[in-house]
Amino acid sequence: MENINQLISFVREQYKTDKFIPLHEPRFRGNEKKYVLDTIDSTFVSSVGAYVDQFEQMMQTFTQTNKAVAVVNGTSSLQVALRLAGVKAGDEVITQALTFIATANAIMYNQAVPVFIDVDLDTMGLSPKAVEAFLEQYGEIREDGCYNKSTGKRIAACMPMHTFGFPVHLDELLAVCKKWQIPLVEDAAESLGSYYKGKHTGSMGLISGFSFNGNKTVTSGGGGVIVTNDAELGKHAKYLTTTAKRPHPYEFFHDELGYNFRMPNLNAALACAQLEELDGFLADKRDLAEGYANLFRGLGIKFREELPEAKANYWLMCVELENKIEREHFLKYTNEAGIMTRPIWNLMHRLPMYLNFQRDEQKNAEFLEERIVNVPSSVR
Ligand SMILES: *Cc1c(COP(=O)(O)O)cnc(C)c1O
Repeated sequence: MENINQLISFVREQYKTDKFIPLHEPRFRGNEKKYVLDTIDSTFVSSVGAYVDQFEQMMQTFTQTNKAVAVVNGTSSLQVALRLAGVKAGDEVITQALTFIATANAIMYNQAVPVFIDVDLDTMGLSPKAVEAFLEQYGEIREDGCYNKSTGKRIAACMPMHTFGFPVHLDELLAVCKKWQIPLVEDAAESLGSYYKGKHTGSMGLISGFSFNGNKTVTSGGGGVIVTNDAELGKHAKYLTTTAKRPHPYEFFHDELGYNFRMPNLNAALACAQLEELDGFLADKRDLAEGYANLFRGLGIKFREELPEAKANYWLMCVELENKIEREHFLKYTNEAGIMTRPIWNLMHRLPMYLNFQRDEQKNAEFLEERIVNVPSSVR
């Protein structure tokens, strides 16, 4: 445990405290108070106000996309993104079992079902090779898209997740999806500030969702953003998430089943102030990741780093331990010392609601499930 003692002193040095050190906590050192107070002073705290437009503009610029739509949380951004990609009741969506619950839930909220395909060991995200292998065996292109021969259902979308901000192999995945005529919807919830070959994650699929929950790189308290390069889809995203009301000075006429998913101006004010800090946060996290990389190299523990083709945001940093026993030691020792560490998620198909959906072998997902542990990653 000599190794872990060195980790504990390193982490305490970073955050300069003897108290409990969480995995990820927000930092408010910029215009957060000023902008939030401004919404209160002006009374525009709710569904009307300039911060929502400003936040959407900032997100369009930052991700280099045609349209950004602010919504109440990341989960709802994914739910609506899937619907706009054409996912309907009775369809299937290909995704990974190694993910946070929101990915799979967003599929089910559309009355569709997930098909769990394995991840790559190097990215920890959906594997293009595994998707291709699945489609070679079960896929069939018909008039209105790709079908799963074994279930008879339409495969309406493919939703990879950029685990902890490490981008998946997007070029390869896009090629497989194109070949099989399946729209790509990115769960970019964790990857604000992550790039694949110079392009922002979430900007390469048809439509994507980000999260601004309190534990993410930057936060709006609670919130999400849909982004797309398709102008029509972008417009439709705004329409659907604001009750699908036809513009009219006083009449209420709604022509589709919309949602009340609009982000309140109060939250957007916080989001604007946080986005102003994002570059600084990313630089600090990158520097912390370098520190961890050096430390863990010396300790003989594998610290997960970005691949040459990608730039990660290092949202939650992680190590890969030798096996489950090592992992248990690591978790117990660090948490008892007041340094929060946490294993990666239980695979989706182990949860009661997701036991019985189609999946492949999940060899890599199971390998990572037993070994990956997050370490404190907050901005210092
Ligand atoms: C955080 C997160 C979401 C969305 O979370 P919200 O709390 O609804 O904002 C979705 N998918 C993944 C993988 C996430 O980590």
